Amino acid sequence: MKVIEHIEKRNNPIFSYEIIPPKRGGNLSDLISVVEDLKKFDPPYIDITSHAAEAIYEETDSGIKRQVKRKRPGTLGLCVLIKHKYGIDAVPHILCRGFTREETEDILIEFHYSGIENVLALRGDDVSYKKPPRIDRTINDYAGDLVDQISSMNQGKYLSNLLDAEKTNFCIGVAGYPEKHYESPNIKTDIDYLKKKVLSGADYIVTQMFYDNNDYFNFVDLCRSEGILVPIIPGIKILSSKNQLSTLPKVFNIDIPYELSEEVRLAKAKHVKDIGVDWAARQVEELLNRDVPAIHFYVMQTSKHVSKLMNKLNI
Ligand code: FAD
Repeated sequence: MKVIEHIEKRNNPIFSYEIIPPKRGGNLSDLISVVEDLKKFDPPYIDITSHAAEAIYEETDSGIKRQVKRKRPGTLGLCVLIKHKYGIDAVPHILCRGFTREETEDILIEFHYSGIENVLALRGDDVSYKKPPRIDRTINDYAGDLVDQISSMNQGKYLSNLLDAEKTNFCIGVAGYPEKHYESPNIKTDIDYLKKKVLSGADYIVTQMFYDNNDYFNFVDLCRSEGILVPIIPGIKILSSKNQLSTLPKVFNIDIPYELSEEVRLAKAKHVKDIGVDWAARQVEELLNRDVPAIHFYVMQTSKHVSKLMNKLNI
């Protein structure tokens, strides 16, 4: 089923979860335990992140060696497993950066054949390796271009003219940034491009994580005033270590409210997870009271904290 149908038909609040495939060559069993844990909360769908190739520098006897590696393969396999073994809809993330449009078409065909009905279309960020596209290959520059490509396939239009091409049927999600995307000169410009993604065919928006619900509410108001009417799903990440006070702002360009950062800073390390769960619980309760379409949790590799939160919320 499509994400948008889950939202439309919901009787209870929807909670979705985002997980990350293991590192190249890693073991899947830990992630399977995470999925089995999450299944207890009856998730309508689970997102699986996608990752472009990266250059790795390794010290060898003959000096520093540069190797290009796909850091975390496995998005397709995990989607199939989640959908067909666990009966949970899967939402693979699809990236512009690191993939040609031709590779994207191939993977979308594979998802379509595998019965996957949802994708989250993202630009991705620059990584240490930039694959020079072959002369006859093309690239999507922005997520909006990727949405165009997926929407075209939904109309049966592939990169080359195919006779009797079957239409794909993807529900398309895109990312939104309550505190604006870090490259955008201002929130208004960012929302203009977000609107373009919606006009190109995006069915819903999932937000970057935020720790102050007012950022989300203001963002939704701004989007609505610009005519963006699709569901905007808030993204929540439970803060779980002191280290994240600096890593989360650095990696995701988000703000951590002073009240939360001070509580974490002054706490003993072993109490930080509880502080994070309590903060997220207050965020979730307020969001549910404002009747959000769903709540998306950035779970990544562990379900421990989100399980604690769900138990606390009695869900
Ligand atoms: P875009 O929508 O392309 O926007 C990027 C920037 O360009 C913005 O500043 C925007 O304002 C601007 N812009 C957009 N369109 C245009 C245009 N036509 N012309 C000029 N400027 C334009 N990354 C991964 O690598 N793998 C993942 O699995 C992944 N999952 C994510 C899930 C969520 C819910 C979110 C919020 C982010 C995720 N990311 C992931 C990170 C994401 O790839 C980065 O945040 C990236 O920098 C931007 O992606 P985007 O899709 O928002 O890009």
